[in-house]
Amino acid sequence: MKTSQIISGAVAAGRKVLLETEAKTLCMAYGIPVTKFELAKSEAEAAKFADKIGYPVVLKVVSPDIIHKSDVGGVMLNLKDQSEVKAAYRQIVENVKKRQAHAKIVGLLVQEMAPSSTEVIVGAIKDPQFGPAMMFGLGGIFVEVLKDVAFRIAPITEEEACEMITEVKAYPLLKGYRNSPPADVKAIAQILINTSKLVMDHQEIKELDLNPILVYEKGAKTVDARIILE
Ligand code: ADP
Ligand code: MG
Repeated sequence: MKTSQIISGAVAAGRKVLLETEAKTLCMAYGIPVTKFELAKSEAEAAKFADKIGYPVVLKVVSPDIIHKSDVGGVMLNLKDQSEVKAAYRQIVENVKKRQAHAKIVGLLVQEMAPSSTEVIVGAIKDPQFGPAMMFGLGGIFVEVLKDVAFRIAPITEEEACEMITEVKAYPLLKGYRNSPPADVKAIAQILINTSKLVMDHQEIKELDLNPILVYEKGAKTVDARIILE
């Protein structure tokens, strides 16, 4: 499917927020690495997909009505076998029914569980005057509490992508410290450049959030992607 069809499909269905499956499919089309995923419609299907993806897996609710999945008990991590996957499936459906009774559940996403590592955030937000702007920061308290972020107007060059990474105050954490190895800064820069291309090509995007991206010594993986349309 062409990437523009994903967006026009959502618009036709009256949705402003892309499903995680749609947002990640867009990302993949632009070479942005994401965790492997399959959309399950039943417990049995979830178990089958988990076997195929390999354990441990993550299970997440997919709903056009839910933006923050963990707030409604819609994310369960580190599921190690079929019986844990099936139990988590029932638990998530029950949590969502209890906390957001009217949310439509499209299915549950079975996802490869990315090993924990340094978390970064890549975002884009459309300014009415300047068009899309790119954002970069480290995950958790760095962005949310300390507002330690870098911005550039899109499209960004490779040089600008590298500057964005090195100019945040938390940058030394990416260079490695004590026992933690350096993070793959080149992989982050490539994600920034590819995300910049994605939002430039699709001007209907008002906001994009890759939060978090787990960064390793070699490579990086986006575990959650959110795209909001104008
Ligand atoms: P939310 O809609 O609440 O932001 P997320 O998909 O970001 O939901 O999941 C919540 C948290 O669970 C993430 O911030 C991340 O720490 C963890 N997580 C989610 N998916 C994965 C995954 N595939 N591998 C590892 N950790 C994950
Ligand atoms: Mg998230």
